[in-house]
Amino acid sequence: MICDFCTFPVVAWRFEATPFGLDYGHAIATSDSGWAACEECAELILAGDRGGLVERALRISPGIPGAPEDEVRELQRWAHDLFFIHRLDIPPARIEAVMPC
Ligand SMILES: [Zn+2]
Repeated sequence: MICDFCTFPVVAWRFEATPFGLDYGHAIATSDSGWAACEECAELILAGDRGGLVERALRISPGIPGAPEDEVRELQRWAHDLFFIHRLDIPPARIEAVMPC
């Protein structure tokens, strides 16, 4: 499982949201439930630091090869916005670390 916000491979929290679709133009992604977040993103989300969240996402996953950074940042912000619009107003749930077997 990866962080739905920055793609970091270790997640610690789950934020509940109602299902929604992300229309990327060339592809449609659906988000059918909550979003997983790593420790750092969870802190930024709880602090309401949306700008910090986007910057972290760009740092961890620089994104689409050949795409201008501004565009990737906008896309990232847009995806995060959709999450925040659909986010349920309940505290995040802790995700127990799952040991690979
Ligand atoms: Zn993250």
